[in-house]
Amino acid sequence: MFRSNIVAMTGYTPGEQPRGEDVIKLNTNENPYPCSPTVKAAIGRVCQAGLQKYPDPSATEFREAAAELLASELPAITPEWILCGNGSDDLLTIITRALVDSGDHIRFPRPSYVLYDTLAAIQGAECDVVNFQADWTLSERFAKHCDKLRLAFLANPNSPSGTVLAADDVAKIATALPCPLVVDEAYVDFADGNCLSLVADNERVIITRTLSKSYALAGLRFGFAVAQPQVIAELGKVKDSYNCDALAIAGATAAIRDRAWFDRTRAAVLATRARLLAELRARGFECVDSQANFVWCQPPGGAPRALYEQLKAAGILVRYMDYGDCGDGLRITVGTDAQIDALLAKLDDLAP
Ligand SMILES: *Cc1c(COP(=O)(O)O)cnc(C)c1O
Repeated sequence: MFRSNIVAMTGYTPGEQPRGEDVIKLNTNENPYPCSPTVKAAIGRVCQAGLQKYPDPSATEFREAAAELLASELPAITPEWILCGNGSDDLLTIITRALVDSGDHIRFPRPSYVLYDTLAAIQGAECDVVNFQADWTLSERFAKHCDKLRLAFLANPNSPSGTVLAADDVAKIATALPCPLVVDEAYVDFADGNCLSLVADNERVIITRTLSKSYALAGLRFGFAVAQPQVIAELGKVKDSYNCDALAIAGATAAIRDRAWFDRTRAAVLATRARLLAELRARGFECVDSQANFVWCQPPGGAPRALYEQLKAAGILVRYMDYGDCGDGLRITVGTDAQIDALLAKLDDLAP
């Protein structure tokens, strides 16, 4: 019944989403704090008005608010530079469907976001994988020409490492590449810089962002892409007409308008991240400096999988990732201080 590439693929496995309240959930990089209260108020107003009508297909309200916010960094930006999605995964799918045919190649680094493999597999495209170097930079191979190359993905900050390539380096990669480059900025709000300015100079750069992490709205499903208007117009042809629902549009718009909530929450996550890193290192973990809301680490004595299992049995869920010849490790989301204290106490319990 199915296309051969669908039968052959395994399908993306999301991090565990346990039901019930008693798990300390540090495995899928959600924000540990509740979202801005203005989000619930905005969603309530939409419910009150009724849901019988279709939503605005282009989420104008959100695009206007986002353009205003981004224009403080890049004055050229207007709503025509922005496309909204049902989470940024929706945008990654739209971009892949718009640019990549069966048999084409998609390039991305490893270890990185595993969904890129899945998007390529659905499309029947080949993965052109470039391993990160030991210091989490990319060799020139990442920008190398290849006739069949149609798209490159770069998560920046990267997951699972939390590392960042400087905007200047990403600009060089984008210029050298023979195809469009998606800079997946899902975690950029936890980093020191971003690549937004690149879209002004290069029509082949597409930035994607999400409200799932830094705005604590993983459950709402809302993301957006930024690129030059002619690129956004083409991508818009590929999306579902109503890919963002009325509740999500209203909630997301309220969220990005509440700058005080954002600044406060971001500062809390960054402070806990610094503490988590220091405490893990004090316990002999090897950790990479992180510019995201998680920490990638190897426990002392190896055996990250065994530690993952022990923590899980104790009701603390972290993410075990195995990248084969690129190694394995634990990716631990920055939780509340109380959650991180519980994790550290358990690690001390388990230590020989
Ligand atoms: C979480 C994540 C996304 C997708 O987030 P959505 O919830 O779909 O908006 C995209 N890229 C990376 C690297 C992520 O970690």
